[in-house]
Amino acid sequence: MQERGDGTVTPRAKRVHRVVIIGTGFAGIGMAIALQKAGIRDFVLLERAAAIGGTWRDNRYPGCACDVPSHLYSFSFEPNPRWSRAYSPQEEIRLYLEACVDKHGLRDRIRFGQTIDHATWSDDEQTWTVSSEAGETFRGHLLVSGIGALSNPAYPSVPGLDRFRGKQFHSATWDHAYDLEGKRIGVIGTGASAIQFVPQIQPKASRLTLFQRTAPWIMPKPDRPYTEREKKLFSRIPGRRFFHRQAIYWRNELVGAMFSKAPRLMAVVAELGKWHIRRSIRNAALRRAVTPTYLPGCKRILLSNDYYPSLDRPNVEVVTDPIREVTATGVVLKSGRAIELDVLIHGTGFSVQSYLGKMKIHGKDGLELGAHWGKNAAAYRGTTIAGFPNLFTLLGPNTGLGHNSVVFMIEAQIRYVMSAIEHMKKDKLSSVEVLPAVLAAYNRRIGKELDSTVWASGCESWYLNDEGKNTTIYPGFTFTFRHETRTFHPGEYQLARRGVVFA
Ligand code: NAP
Repeated sequence: MQERGDGTVTPRAKRVHRVVIIGTGFAGIGMAIALQKAGIRDFVLLERAAAIGGTWRDNRYPGCACDVPSHLYSFSFEPNPRWSRAYSPQEEIRLYLEACVDKHGLRDRIRFGQTIDHATWSDDEQTWTVSSEAGETFRGHLLVSGIGALSNPAYPSVPGLDRFRGKQFHSATWDHAYDLEGKRIGVIGTGASAIQFVPQIQPKASRLTLFQRTAPWIMPKPDRPYTEREKKLFSRIPGRRFFHRQAIYWRNELVGAMFSKAPRLMAVVAELGKWHIRRSIRNAALRRAVTPTYLPGCKRILLSNDYYPSLDRPNVEVVTDPIREVTATGVVLKSGRAIELDVLIHGTGFSVQSYLGKMKIHGKDGLELGAHWGKNAAAYRGTTIAGFPNLFTLLGPNTGLGHNSVVFMIEAQIRYVMSAIEHMKKDKLSSVEVLPAVLAAYNRRIGKELDSTVWASGCESWYLNDEGKNTTIYPGFTFTFRHETRTFHPGEYQLARRGVVFA
């Protein structure tokens, strides 16, 4: 038996894998491919669901698509010349990930239905033991978290949700069996998900009420299908595809420069957003209601050509009066006005600040990661944490982006993990643990850089915790992050050579 950090015990797994990976989204799959390419085949991928794909498996709401261009929102080492459009729909990205799993023969390394509830470090053995709600345990020298921040749905904090007798569901758990035709639909939220599904469901609704707390900035989406000729060129001339990807990447980095180095320039982007509102909406009151009052970029800038026109339809009302409570038959606003509904759809995002969910990660000396972090999650280069040897968090704290592809960040972090593994093998190490002072200095630097960015320009967003600290976004250029994570520097780590070494 193995004692967990909370004093309970789990049956002991005999086999010690070299790497245990949690999650099969872009992060977990990318990590597995990198290990395999380096000749490390003894790893296991633990997945809570019955299929791979992470956020691209879960989010199946109507109109779900990526707002980062297809040729950049994909692995650099697995280009897809046949993306159907400039911005891929959800199902195409999910199938892309499935194809990556098949091509690299990863399927038999995946254990499905494994919702991890505990991971516990043994300093004596220098291994991690991971246990699932299904009662299984797995052991590994290294533990890589690929769970991402956008995996646990968040529901609106309004009283009475459980009293509602109509239908309700979250955008990330869409009920496709429920027919929306002719229904009185309420939608809470106007974020990246809602602006994609509202235009899809508006034609079906007898009446659609959109509860908007904060208007998002929305820009035109330069989406279009790729022609057959373009796809052939991307296939036959790899350089054509490469330059296309590069052009998208550098255009996005230019926007990133404005976000982090010159946020005042975002006022120009605001003018483009206002023009987009004027040309899409005729109703003056509605134009005013959807015009944001903060700098674009402070909250994620969204892209859509059909959202504004769908709001300007006779069966739609945008309500800005806050929700007081949900009742058995609908919603009551602060003003006292009651709105009867058949269905309530929550487009209210994810629990980003507590993204570990119910998972408890116990490191050295009884440290538990969720409690240790509290509201201030921090990891060195978003990846390693003092007190948690051999734990690597892909898309960990301060690796999120408002302007570019997170797949790029994931690949940079994977390279960093592989560099750490090379050092561990070369020097016959059993564990690496970032020095507390190194992590603290990094975190101070990130915090200072964030102070002068657009994300600190005075809006409330899920990028910030309750205390206003930004624990989610990387403030600089992504090429800087890539450069910083190029090489693992052993001098920044406490190194151990006992128990099981990573040979
Ligand atoms: P989100 O951006 O966090 O939006 C949640 C929405 O719910 C916000 O409009 C929020 O208002 C609103 N809300 C929450 N509680 C409310 C309440 N009590 N009353 C009224 N409104 C309430 O969530 P999301 O749209 O699901 O997107 C989450 C993230 O997923 C995105 O930022 C993005 O990173 C990712 N995503 C990406 C894509 C893509 O194309 N790549 C697509 C979808 C999602 P406030 O603004 O006032 O908080």
